[in-house]
This record gives sequence, C-alpha cells and structure tokens, in this order.
Amino acid sequence: MVATLFIDGVWKAASDGAVHDVFSPHDQRVVAQVSQASQSDVLDAIDAARTSFDSGAFTSWSFKERSALVAKIADLIERDSESIAQKESADTGKRIVEAQYDVADVVATFRHFAALGAKEHDRRVDVGLENVTSRIVHEPLGVASLIGPWNYPLLQIAWKVAPALVAGCSFIVKPSELTPQSAIALMGLIEEAGTPKGVANLILGPGSVVGNSLISDPRIDLVSFTGGLTTGRTIMHAAAQTIKKLALELGGKNPHIIFADANLDAAIDNSVTAAFLHSGQVCSAGTRLIVEKSIHGQVVDEIVRRAGQIKLGGPDDLLAESGPLISQAHLEGVTSYVNKAIAEGANLLIGGTRSTDPAHANGWYFLPTVLDDCLGSMHCVQEESFGPVMTVEVFETEAQAISIGNDTNFGLSGGVWSGDSAKAERVAKALRHGTIWVNDFGPYRPQAEWGGYKQSGIGRELGEHGLGEYLEIKHIWTNNVPSRSGWFSDPGHGGA
Ligand code: NDP
Repeated sequence: MVATLFIDGVWKAASDGAVHDVFSPHDQRVVAQVSQASQSDVLDAIDAARTSFDSGAFTSWSFKERSALVAKIADLIERDSESIAQKESADTGKRIVEAQYDVADVVATFRHFAALGAKEHDRRVDVGLENVTSRIVHEPLGVASLIGPWNYPLLQIAWKVAPALVAGCSFIVKPSELTPQSAIALMGLIEEAGTPKGVANLILGPGSVVGNSLISDPRIDLVSFTGGLTTGRTIMHAAAQTIKKLALELGGKNPHIIFADANLDAAIDNSVTAAFLHSGQVCSAGTRLIVEKSIHGQVVDEIVRRAGQIKLGGPDDLLAESGPLISQAHLEGVTSYVNKAIAEGANLLIGGTRSTDPAHANGWYFLPTVLDDCLGSMHCVQEESFGPVMTVEVFETEAQAISIGNDTNFGLSGGVWSGDSAKAERVAKALRHGTIWVNDFGPYRPQAEWGGYKQSGIGRELGEHGLGEYLEIKHIWTNNVPSRSGWFSDPGHGGA
C-alpha cells in the first residue's frame, strides 16, 4: 500500500486508493509512486489543521520553543541531506550536485527562521499616558495552505514551512504533483522532531483536483503560493470570497543590463549562468539581456559561443552542466514560445529545438537558445518561457536602459553591470524589481527578503518579512487605573 499523505499526524493512503507515478524528466523512468489525494482527503487535512490550530496545542508554545523545534528540523534535514538530494534530483532531473546545493539552502532557511523566531517580537508603544500600558503583540495567523512549484520543490516549500512553524500556524503543504518526494521526506522529519499532530499536513495530487478547497475553504486563513501567473490569478479570485491573506510568488521576466564600461568577462560569464542555469527553470532567471549598443556584437558572439558549449545531462552525468526541462508539456511550451518569437522577427542565433543527442532521446532536453534583435513589443520579451531562452535587446543611453528594464508587467529581479558605481546605483534604484544585483546575478541569502513588484507577486518571503506573512499583529491597550471616559454628559450621575 502506498501511504504518503500525512493527515492529522498519520501517514495515509488516499481514501479511494488512488496512486500517481512520478516520472524522471531525464528518461521517463518511474522514480516513485505516491498517493493521490481525493477531495475527502483534502477536507480531512483542512479539518486537522483547523482543529489543531483552534485547540491551542501549538499556538500556546512560545516563540522560543517553536524556534527550537525548527532548529531541530534543520539538524534532521542536514542529517538526511544526501537521501533528500537524491529524491529531489530524481524528480526534477537536475544534477545531484545542484540538488545538494538546494538541500543546503533548505537547512540554511530553517536555521534563519529559527534564529529570527528566538528574537523578541513584541514591543511597547509610548502613548503618552502614565496609566496606560500599550503593547503590540504578534500571534500566529491561523491555518495556511502552502502550495509549491516543481523547479526548486523543497526549497520553495521550506521558505513557507519554516516561518509557518516559527509563527505557530497549522498548515497543509501541497507540492507539485511532478516533484512530491522531497516534501514527503520533509514531513517525516517534521513528525520526528515532535511537532504536535495536526499542525503539519501533506496533500499530494494535481492542483486541478486537490487545489480548489485549499484556496477557497473558509477554514483556511492564508494561501502562500509559488508558481505561475495564471494559477496566481485563480487563487486571488478564490481567496476573495473569504478575504484570505495571500502571499504570492509568480515568477519574472528579469532584465539583465550590461553597460560598455562593465567588466565584460565577468558580465558575459554571469549572463550565461543567469539565463541557462537549471535550463532557465528559475523564477529569477536573467533571460532578458539588455546590452549597450557599442558592445552588442562582442557580448552576443561570446554568449552564443558559451551557450553552444553547455553540456546537458541527467542526474548521474558527472560532466553535465544543466539538465532537462520538467515535462513533455513544458518542452512543447518552450518550443512553441521560440517558434512564435521567430515568427515575430526575433533572430535565432543558437538552439531553438530539443536536443538531438541520442543520450537525451527519452528526456525533455532543450538546447540553450539565444534570440537576438528583440523588441519590447514581442511576446518573447514580455512572457516567461521558463526554459533556456535568452532574448537580446540593445540600448544607447542610461535612461533607455532603465526604461527597457522596467518595460514589463513582472518585477521579480534584475541585474546591472557597470564600472561606474554611481551609474550602477542610479539604475539599481530606478529598476522596479524586488531584487537587484549590481555586478553580479543570482545569489540570495535567507536573511534578505525575496519577492516581486507588480505582477511578480504579493508579499515577501525570507528575511524578517517572510516571518511576518504568518503573523497577525494585535494592539493591547491596558488602562492600569480604570476611570470613566467622560465623553457623554451624565447629569444624573452622583459619583461612583
Ligand atoms: P502552476 O502555477 O500550475 O503550479 C504551481 C503549483 O500550484 C503546483 O503545486 C500546482 O499543482 C498548483 N496548482 C495548479 N493549479 C492549482 C489550483 N487551481 N489551485 C491550487 N493549486 C494549483 O505552475 P506550473 O507548474 O504549471 O508552471 C507554469 C508556469 O509557472 C511556469 O512556466 C512558470 O512561468 C511559472 N513558475 C514559476 C515558478 C516560480 O518560482 N515563481 C516556479 C514554477 C513555475 P500541480 O503542479 O500538482 O498541478
């Protein structure tokens, strides 16, 4: 029996016995079989989370106690990091070394929130009255649905689970149906660490089947979601009925600006990484290159040369530098995206098709692709491909670079390369994106907030705000010397 749903502290099979195969994007092998929740399983999980929250069994723990729990989970993840990385690599097709980095980032995320939770959160407010004590206190927000994507499955879930636990929320985790194994492993460690039953629940299955209750049930107070814009809109719509709190991370179309006075060797090398790491399946991928006209030929020629050298391969290929796309549907989507770009007038310099290497015949491998002569009006410049596709635009002035960099409905991240630090700072401030890298592209730390302007989302993960998403703020005003308000006249009153 496959029993991989975790509901009210118990591992369960789906109530209707349904199971779901997980396929390797590298060769379509079945790498796992997991339970596929029914609607009644979802309702049971919501019920368990709501009951546990309302019982106070976890909310009565102090911040310090919950932080200690989260620190313990970090240690357990570290203990099991190799087997978790193996699962992540099998589900996503990414190289084992990348999965190992991801699991290390997961540990760092849990440790960040454990340290943050151990700090003092509440504060006194000076209201200018000697007889009054005024306090701002922070309380767990309630029951949360935590819905994650397939590109960094455990890491994106960790950005939600760790702060939810520190805050004292109860929750239901739903990973992508394509990549469930690492979430199952995490849930086992949350259980092992001694989390009260019903606080953490795991539902598996496609969003189209199990998602609706998770985003609309009145017993859910918060939906924290990372994924596509279309699903984000569906969630906002459903959440409106009961005014749920929302935390949304919806991806980006991230500008990467290179001025002629930059360290070009570093800028070009980072451009290749920014666009082609994990085959572009990164919400902050720097897939929109915006390069000063005078160096356009030099930069693009070198990027094309480097793109042509990238070695694609599966989880166990020690020489591989990047892996497959997640699914056949995604490969087809990236292919039609590129074809549409060419039809719109983009100039295909390299790539543009799936790999024809016989070693990739059963996998979803797409070649690193560079599209030149792109304009802001084109679909390929405005829409995410979420594949290894770089578009190239040119600018002549600083103002033009800023204008092009902001010409998008997204606002997740961006980069600027220049040897003139004052200019780089001006551009960094003018770009309307949640993270800007200057003379760099890609690094992040859990101590710094992460999130998007505009249609890249709502709210922030990580940093201090990442915990704030899971807290309610309450003002408690205590009059230590009770007296009459005296607002309305009271002629008959003779004194107390
Ligand atoms: P989705 O938005 O479809 O999926 C993200 C998560 O939401 C998955 O767990 C999915 O479940 C779930 N989901 C889907 N529909 C619903 C629903 N109606 N209610 C509740 N949950 C739902 O993203 P995709 O995986 O299809 O990727 C599409 C695009 O999203 C990508 O091309 C990319 O642009 C963007 N994306 C952005 C990411 C980011 O980091 N910001 C990460 C991944 C994708 P399931 O997959 O099991 O159906």
